[in-house]
Amino acid sequence: MPLSHGTFPCIAFVHKADRRDWPDAPGSRAAVENFRQVLERILIDEARGLGASDDYLEALDRLLARSAQARGLVSTVRGYAWGWRREPDPVLELIYPAAWSAAELLAGDDRQRLKCCDACGRLFIDRSRNRSRRWCDMQRCGNREKARRFRKTRSKIRDR
Ligand SMILES: [Zn+2]
Repeated sequence: MPLSHGTFPCIAFVHKADRRDWPDAPGSRAAVENFRQVLERILIDEARGLGASDDYLEALDRLLARSAQARGLVSTVRGYAWGWRREPDPVLELIYPAAWSAAELLAGDDRQRLKCCDACGRLFIDRSRNRSRRWCDMQRCGNREKARRFRKTRSKIRDR
C-alpha cells in the first residue's frame, strides 16, 4: 500500500510492514517493539487531533539526538540525500530511520493530512484535494465500511 503510506517509512514501521527485517534476538525485537509503540502513540494522537504527549515526544527527541552521529550526506543518482552510515546495532539500524521519518512527518505540512482509517484504524496520509478521505484504502476498507453501514441500516428497518 505505498500510496496510503505516502512517503513516510514511519507509518510502515508502526504497522509492522517491515517486520521481516526486525532482528531475531528476543531482546532486540522487544526493543524495536517498544519504540514502535511510542511512535504509534505519537502518530495516532496526532492523527486524531489530540496532540502527542510530551513524554513520548521527549523519547523520540532523545533518540533523534543519539542518531545524529549515524546520519550523514550520501551521494545519489540525482545528487545528495540524507542517508545512514552502517549501523552495527540491528535495533538502531531499524529505529533510527523510522524516528527521522516520524520527525519529518511531524515537522512538515503532511502532519495535517495524517489520519486514522475509519474502518481499520490504520494510519494513512490523506492526499485528497479537500482532505476528506476517511479510509486507508477505498477497495479494502471503504467498500467494507459502506457494506457494513448498508447492513446496519437494513437491519434497523427490519427491526421496526
Ligand atoms: Zn483501513
